[in-house]
Amino acid sequence: MRKNILSNRVNFIKDSATLRLNDIGEQLRSKGADIINLSVGEPDFDTPKFIKDAAKKALDNGDTHYTPSLGKPRLRKVVAEKLKKDNNIDTSYENIIISAGAKHLIYMAINSIIDEGEEVVLLSPAWVSYEACVKIAGGRINWIKTNIEDQFQPTDIQDNINKKTKLIVLNSPNNPSGAVYSENTLKMIADLSIDYDFFVLSDEIYEKIIYDSKHISIASFDQMADRTITVNGLSKSYAMTGWRIGYASAPKIILDGMLKIQQHSISCAPSFVQEAAISAMSGPQDCVNEMVSEFKKRRDFLVDGLNSIGLRCLLPKGAFYLFVDISDFAEDANEFSEKMLKEGYLVMTPGDAFGPGFENYIRISYAVPIDKLKEAVKRIGNIIA
Ligand code: PMP
Ligand code: GLU
Repeated sequence: MRKNILSNRVNFIKDSATLRLNDIGEQLRSKGADIINLSVGEPDFDTPKFIKDAAKKALDNGDTHYTPSLGKPRLRKVVAEKLKKDNNIDTSYENIIISAGAKHLIYMAINSIIDEGEEVVLLSPAWVSYEACVKIAGGRINWIKTNIEDQFQPTDIQDNINKKTKLIVLNSPNNPSGAVYSENTLKMIADLSIDYDFFVLSDEIYEKIIYDSKHISIASFDQMADRTITVNGLSKSYAMTGWRIGYASAPKIILDGMLKIQQHSISCAPSFVQEAAISAMSGPQDCVNEMVSEFKKRRDFLVDGLNSIGLRCLLPKGAFYLFVDISDFAEDANEFSEKMLKEGYLVMTPGDAFGPGFENYIRISYAVPIDKLKEAVKRIGNIIA
């Protein structure tokens, strides 16, 4: 039997900590443990009925075949209009690609642009899959750390950018920190992108999950639509994680690269799910506002609750995570999360999964009903008392 069965590309990446921990939590729950799963970032709400009805209608109409690889023209038009209207991005139908979730779009974008040894800037803490996508492409990561003192906003990144930088990945609202990048921060990055001639991959999946703050798309700044791939999806805003549907707007040359990968990997996003996406994006948006106001209640409750038991954390402006410094309570986040699992049946994601410099942080997802959050605060309090 061969020794080197797995490719270097696979050997060099870690599994997804967010998905692994979610699996651990759900396995324990299925065995009867009283688990509270604060690991995965997945809205616990049901997908709104009018969206499900649109998918059912499409199925009944026989909409069960391949669509064009770029996506159904009607959906691409809806997306282009949305990006123009809500995000002020100068894009058009020709620049839109639909895929099975934002994650696959990110994978395709990075693999379309990055060659062996080329540099990608990731701002730590960063969502777990960017690092893996860059490594699969053979790229080199230049990690730039953000800090809690700056509310996790990237500040003086120009000192770490150089002419070799080909791409920076941005994610605002941010997973895991909950930071929402200010207009000044985004303007600074846009100016650097033009000066140093690098591209921007802007992951805006949490765009709508934002509290008392304004989401700004970097592609809306002058000259930036030509150098930005804006990725978004319906998983978080419409509680549609299992439907696997997302979209991106990209400069034509990059879009053509992504299209080739899509053609040779998944062909297209599921046809009837594309109908559901059209209905979600063109229908009434009250469902989104209702979910966001519930997330806000949970955020306020959890931040107060954790601060009251001595776990200090910031009030995040977006997404549905708290990123908490646990250095007063354990050697590192892995020790802390193990303790929480063993003694409290609580599943959380250790900070080292999100890049260097956050070994003492833990990510807590509050996409969980408030009664469970109350119970979680009680259990954490008892363990660290
Ligand atoms: N980006 C970020 C920051 C995420 O947290 C996630 C997790 N769902 C994704 C992208 C991928 O989302 P999707 O379900 O659309 O693939
Ligand atoms: N993005 C979510 C998270 O961070 C879902 C899991 C994943 O795709 O990573 O938990």
